[in-house]
Parts: sequence; structure tokens; C-alpha cells
Amino acid sequence: MYRTFEVLETIEMTHSLLAGVAGIMLLYFGGEGLVHGACALARRLRVSPVVIGLTVVAFGTSAPELVVSLNAAMGGANDIAVGNVVGSNIANLAFILGAAAMLKTARVEAKLLRVDAPLLVFISLAVVALLADDRLTRPEGVLLIVGLVAYTVFTFVQGRRESAFVQQEFRSVASKTTTRLSADLLRLGPGVGALVVGAKLLVTAAVTVASSLGVSQAVIGLTVVAIGTSLPELATTLVAASKGHGDIAVGNVIGSNIFNLLGVLGVTSIVTPLSRGHIGWASLGVMLGVTIFILPMLHSRRRLSKGEGAVLLACYVGYIGWLMAGQVSNTVVPMATASPIAVASPSATFTQESDPYVMVLGVAQDGGVPQAGSKDHPAWTDLDARRFAVSLALVDPVSSERWLFEATPDLREQLHRLDVAYPVEAMPGLAGIFLTHAHMGHYTGLMYLGHESMGAQGVPVYAMPKMHEYLSSNGPWNQLVKYNNIELRPVADATPVRLNERLTVTPFLVPHRQEYTEVVGFRVQGPRRSFLFIPDIDSWEEFDEWGTKIEDLIAGVDVAYLDATFYANGEIPGRDMSGFPHPFITHSMYRFSGLSAEEKSKIRFIHLNHTNPALLPDSDARRTIERSGFRVAQELEKVGL
Ligand SMILES: [Zn+2]
Ligand SMILES: [Zn+2]
Repeated sequence: MYRTFEVLETIEMTHSLLAGVAGIMLLYFGGEGLVHGACALARRLRVSPVVIGLTVVAFGTSAPELVVSLNAAMGGANDIAVGNVVGSNIANLAFILGAAAMLKTARVEAKLLRVDAPLLVFISLAVVALLADDRLTRPEGVLLIVGLVAYTVFTFVQGRRESAFVQQEFRSVASKTTTRLSADLLRLGPGVGALVVGAKLLVTAAVTVASSLGVSQAVIGLTVVAIGTSLPELATTLVAASKGHGDIAVGNVIGSNIFNLLGVLGVTSIVTPLSRGHIGWASLGVMLGVTIFILPMLHSRRRLSKGEGAVLLACYVGYIGWLMAGQVSNTVVPMATASPIAVASPSATFTQESDPYVMVLGVAQDGGVPQAGSKDHPAWTDLDARRFAVSLALVDPVSSERWLFEATPDLREQLHRLDVAYPVEAMPGLAGIFLTHAHMGHYTGLMYLGHESMGAQGVPVYAMPKMHEYLSSNGPWNQLVKYNNIELRPVADATPVRLNERLTVTPFLVPHRQEYTEVVGFRVQGPRRSFLFIPDIDSWEEFDEWGTKIEDLIAGVDVAYLDATFYANGEIPGRDMSGFPHPFITHSMYRFSGLSAEEKSKIRFIHLNHTNPALLPDSDARRTIERSGFRVAQELEKVGL
């Protein structure tokens, strides 16, 4: 049956490629539509062609870069957001201008040489300098936008005719204007809509393809996404060049690069502060190098010859080839440099033998693997392939105490596993049980404590208020309370519970279908290290709305066991899963893609549904997760605290 997931992943890949192409087309037509609609509208408002050229056309052809970078940054794909701008600028100068020059030798306007080209060099230097501390903050974004406004005003005050080409484009548009305002507005709407939808499609496809192929988001951003968003520039530049307007071709490219650096990076970093991420200094160097390299080319006899065009194109091909070669050598040693935690065996995270530790007793979703009713699952005969419902044990060798997180339907075997790993005299020998919520996989194991089974005495069960109420007022659980098999201990949101002088457990509310009880996650602090346990959550974004960024929680711990019920939409054949609660692993990887390698390596996916292909160690899904710097929790793994 797992074969079907590989087929599904192939289908997913094909879907992503198609979605990417559709996205690029929508971006192209959206950009065109925006320019034409806005020109018509501006003309109706009696705005002069020069102003239109400086604002509407310049903005319009760079709108795809802007929406794509914004979309990527807001989705956490920092590398695509920044790579898009750096890659676009390299592609504009080396690829597009090179191709245009090869088409027809381009003459260069004197003003371009005196003002705009040197200005682009200066702005490129400034942006690289701003990135020297690896970050692009909000104030720096504001600075870039101020620069853009200054540049626009300066150009406008200079009274420089933007170009004959813009005016010509303006005339061609003007001739198409209708007499009705509503018609102009109608033309604008679909343009903006196409841009937004196109950007979303392209970014999602880029992230999926990057993770499926194991190519970094930085490289996808620098290449495919960058070229995709530069199509409007490519079209206008090549058309201008072929009509003999070489100066316009050069002007377009330089103007667009200035807008990318000031406008796109400026707006994006104001909305979401950016980082250099995995955009190498080499790529920034290439951007700077090409920008400077082109100056003498433009100066020499004030034209860009076919030969110079060929050199530029060759530079671009060389750069792309170098990027790709880097990817190949990166994938040969996949985890070696990723992080020490990622390669070390779990026990290697111990600092001392006497450290308390957490041990994973189960990694599956509530139903376990194989799930009841699965007809021909290999795990029915291969017991090693079974997976228990999600559960963790906490052990303190100094005090000889043991705690459980969750009481699952597999508690029988999980308790035995714990007894093998850390034997104690008492039965069940549990200093306490922490419960996240009252879904079947998380609390029904309490039944084994009752008198039909081991007849435990006074096992502390830490329960939130509604859970407390639920267990004490509903059969059969209230019988456990009545016979004192379990002893309920009240806990409260964000209130630490001190287990002993070395260990503290803090529950916190998370958004998840709260059918019988509230739902919590736990943060556990040991003497040296700490971990996070969120086996069930509806979405990280809902958590955002509650005011908690999961990234902040991850930053505050050493290991994070996070809900990874499903790998991707399409996992359950014949059902649209987009409305399912639980973040898909693909979505989580997308969201966390902007984190540093160290942060990513903290994340261990847990609570995997029996359909989740990442359960299998040799699946593409598992490889993708590990290549992206994350891990899947393993039963019996230990982490020292
Ligand atoms: Zn669950
Ligand atoms: Zn649940």
C-alpha cells in the first residue's frame, strides 16, 4: 500500500510543476493587465505619460517580484523572498540584457550612464552592506523605501523623459481605452487578482519542488522563481531591443533592478523582517559583480555589442551551472554539516549519565499502526513495523521517578517498554501522568490502572480544569477516581508544575477540537535542557491568532515534538483533506523553512497517522524531511535533559 504514496508523490510533483507554470503565466498576464489598466485609468485622471512611466509601468513590470517575495516572506520562505530579488537582478543584467544585445546591438543613453547605472551600483552595494549582519530589519526596509521615493522624485524633477518606448506603450494602451470608467476598473481587477493567485501558485510549487528534489529554497528562488518573475521585463526588453530601442532595453533593466532592491526588498522587509538566510555571499557577489562589470561595457562606445551580449549570457550560464553543481555536492553529504543533533544518536545528547531524560514510547496518531480495520497491512505480521499511539516517558535516575505523557490504548506495551528501559520495584511505578486532552489516543489507557487490570493505587493524574471535571463526572473514569486508582491533580494554563528540584512541567493551551476537554501542549525543563510536546494542534496559524508563535516556543527549547499527523494533502485517497485539522508536514516544512539549521534540527515530527508515508524510513517523504533538516521522532529514542 505504501507504493501508492510514492505514486501520489509523483502526482503531487507533476501537479506542482503544472501549478508553477500556471503561476508564472498568471504573473505575466497579471503584470501586463495591471500596467494597461492603470495606464488607462491614469490617462482618465489626466496624469502625464512621464509620471505614468515612472510609476505605473516601472511598478507594473516589477509587481510579480513584489507579490512573489511578499507571499514567500509571509509564508516563512525567506530564502525564496530574498533569492527572488538577487536572482532577478542577476537574470535581468546577464540573461535578459545579454539576450537583448545579441538580438540587436543596443545604443545607450548618456543620462543612463551618468545617473542610473552608477546609482544601481551604489544601491546594490548599500543593500549588500545592509545584509552584512545577515538581517534586513524593518527600519532598514523603511530606509530602502525612502530611497525609492527619493529616486522617483529626483527622476521626476529632472524632467527626464522616461523613454519614447513608454510613451509608445502608453499610446497603444490609450487607443484601447473605453469611454467607461467601470471598464477601466474592470481591467485593473483581474490583473491584480492574477498577480496574487499567480504568486501563491508559484511560491507553493517552488517550495514543494525544492523539497521533493532536495534542492534548497535559496537556489529555487535564485533561479526558477527569479526568471519566472522577470518575464515581464524579458518581454518588454526583447520587444524594445528588436524594434531597435536599445536604450530603452537597457533603461528598463536598470530601472527594474533599482525597483527590486529598493521597492521589493523594502516593502517585504517592512511587512516581515528578512534575513540573508541561505543566499550565499557568492550570489550577492555575483549580483554586485555583474552590476559593476556592465558599466565599462555600457561606456565603451556607448553601446552594448553582440559580443558583449554573448559574454553576459555566458556569465549567466556559468553562474547557474555553478549553483546547480553546488546542489549536487550538497546532496552527496546530506546531513553531515546540518547539525550535530541530526547525526548523533539520540543518547549522545546526554551530558551526564545521571541526567533526567525523555524517552519516546509511541509516535503514531491515536489509532496506532496498523489501524483497526486495515486489511493487509504488513505490520500485522511484522511486529517491528507496528507503531504505538503517541506517548513520552520522563525519567529521573537520581530520584528514580518516572512520569508518562498521555495514557494511550497501547499503555500495556508502553509501560513494559519503560520497565525494560528503566526498571523500578513499584507497580505501575509512575510518579504521575500528564494528559493533553480527551481524544481516544491520549487518555483511554487510564483504563489499565483500574481494578479489572492492575488496580493501581493513587497514581497522580495531572488534569486541566475541564479534564478534571470530565474524568470525575463520567463513567467509567469516575470509577478510577472513586476507587482511588488515580488521584487527580489540578493544573492550569501556563502555570509550571514542579516535579522535583530538577524537573518542571508547564502546560499551555493549544487550538484543537475541544470536544470534551481543553487541549494542551507541554514544555518540560530539565537541569540542562528542555523539550516541547505538542502532539495535537489544528494549525500553527490559529496558534498565531492566539498570540503564540510556535517558532518562539521552539527557540526556547532544545527539542520540539510536534504534531505531524499527515504528510500532505492527497494522503487519504479520494478525500480532499484541505479542511482537515493538523498542519500537514509539507506545510510545517514550508512554514519553518526560514529557520536556521539549528532551529530546524530541534523539530521531531510525531503523532503520525497510519497513512503517513514518513513512518517508513526509506520513503521519499522521510528523505525529504531529513534533507530539509528536520527529523521524525523514533520510538525508544532518548533525549537527555
Ligand atoms: Zn491525537
Ligand atoms: Zn486530538
